Amino acid sequence: MDNFLFFAMASLAETCYEAKENRNIENSLPWGKDVDSKQQSLLRKLPGVDRVLELWDRAQPVKDVPRTVLVRSIRTTLDRLRIKVLADNELLDETMFAENRLLRLAVQSVNKSLEFKLRHVINATGVVVHTNLGRSLLSEGVARHVAEILCRYSNLEFDLEKGERGSRYSCVEEILCEISGVEAAMVVNNNAGAVFLSLETLAKAKEVIVSRGELVEIGGSFRIPDVMASSGAKLVEVGTTNRTHLSDYEGAIRDETALLLKVHTSNYSMVGFTAEVPLNDLVTLGAKYHLPVMKDLGSGNFVDFSKYGLMKEPTVQETVATGADVVTFSGDKMLGGPQAGIIVGRKDALERIKKNPINRALRIDKMTLAALEATLHLYRDESKAVSAIPTLRMLTLPLKVISNRANRLRSRLRKLGNDLLEAVVINASSRVGGGALPLQELPTKCVGVRVKGLSASRIERIVREADPPIIGRIENDLFVMDMRTVQDDEIAVIASIFKKEV
Ligand SMILES: *Cc1c(COP(=O)(O)O)cnc(C)c1O
Repeated sequence: MDNFLFFAMASLAETCYEAKENRNIENSLPWGKDVDSKQQSLLRKLPGVDRVLELWDRAQPVKDVPRTVLVRSIRTTLDRLRIKVLADNELLDETMFAENRLLRLAVQSVNKSLEFKLRHVINATGVVVHTNLGRSLLSEGVARHVAEILCRYSNLEFDLEKGERGSRYSCVEEILCEISGVEAAMVVNNNAGAVFLSLETLAKAKEVIVSRGELVEIGGSFRIPDVMASSGAKLVEVGTTNRTHLSDYEGAIRDETALLLKVHTSNYSMVGFTAEVPLNDLVTLGAKYHLPVMKDLGSGNFVDFSKYGLMKEPTVQETVATGADVVTFSGDKMLGGPQAGIIVGRKDALERIKKNPINRALRIDKMTLAALEATLHLYRDESKAVSAIPTLRMLTLPLKVISNRANRLRSRLRKLGNDLLEAVVINASSRVGGGALPLQELPTKCVGVRVKGLSASRIERIVREADPPIIGRIENDLFVMDMRTVQDDEIAVIASIFKKEV
């Protein structure tokens, strides 16, 4: 589809949405309607790009706008007006093309296009590892280290002792071994890459045995059968959806078998009449048949969260202690580091994985390495990790602290002096997110806002379009902000957005 058409459809949809929201004039939408003569004469009066450029150059409402940006923004502005005419014929006249109005719209469009598209948003959803909102936050110390490495040359692939070429992964391998108690480690772009690379290396053109209960889809199109297929390994399903036994695995082993795989079921959970084979038993079975065993942990964690009142998840250390040959996990789920896929395990398996030429296509950048190394350093002292790594801090945040934040925001909102705005503190429950601990309820405090004359969905939209955007949710006709994931310094920002925009 060409760009203009795409744009026209997108803004048409937007215009319709606005129209519906604001005035409920569904009947005047342009679907299937001919352009009438009034619309035609209005469209003829719409100035061209050159005309608006002239106006701009005379008024210079924003200085130093790159010409390409300016022309595109003006074109966008005129396209929007054209669509408005087509959508909205009853209510419009040519005052909509008044010069000052055109300029104002062009300024808006220019400013919008000069903004960064990837920017800070306030996560008021209470989902700690929120995949759509950037998953894990780095601690400031880690971010400082990254900035330092990025703005200078570094020994990324240089061995300072030997004075010769070194390995890019050496900065994280030793500390990964130290923390998880493994012989060898390796990192790639993300855990999907880690699983793919491990399967490609260990089982290409061979068979991999997996329980039917673990053939999961994680979201974002990561599905175990599909990753398996693209790695060239052949999936051999055993057991049933709810129950798989050791004998199922053993019965499927034959000459073509290359690997026994266990997958963390991540964002779903089975209850009732279920049975799965513990990793320990699978490792014993693997040893009996000289087959490597791999576990995809998904969201790996070095900290036992059950100590902090959360549900038990096996840690990376506990998982490798079973003797599994390869264990893979994400750097940016419960670990709270940068996006990365971490592969740890036995030396022989890891040697093969490291030698796979596909590695090069999955290799991580120095930004990630610097962030990962600095995050891993924090794990040498668990209490430091829990307080300094934002993901861990938010997951273990005492209710008292959240409650205090909620009260602060509520009183700030009440002090705005907006009689139409009502703010209340409500009990709710936050989510871990990131496909981890799907059943975990984290008691939390939210601030709910109601504004006379505005629907909750209208409030949601207004603050989502603010700067910075606030992302919350709607519950029982209240706009609700979960204070677990709102950072302390964002409370004042939220209050000022409500003051300005609502
Ligand atoms: C999240 C997840 C993945 C994918 O990890 P990314 O780091 O998002 O690529 C793979 N396997 C499991 C079990 C997961 O939970």
